[in-house]
Amino acid sequence: MAASGFEEASDPLVTARSRSGLSCPSCGSAHVAQVLGDNGGVSYVCTSCGHSWS
Ligand SMILES: [Zn+2]
Repeated sequence: MAASGFEEASDPLVTARSRSGLSCPSCGSAHVAQVLGDNGGVSYVCTSCGHSWS
């Protein structure tokens, strides 16, 4: 069974809430999810266009 994990829409590590002052640098959408990275860092994923950054 492949461990993709990215299709889990209800992942507890992903907070699909827009945070004040945070918007996607690619499309400008405020629908940004905060994702915990591998090394304890935090990165962001746009839920509108799929762009990710940190
Ligand atoms: Zn975007």
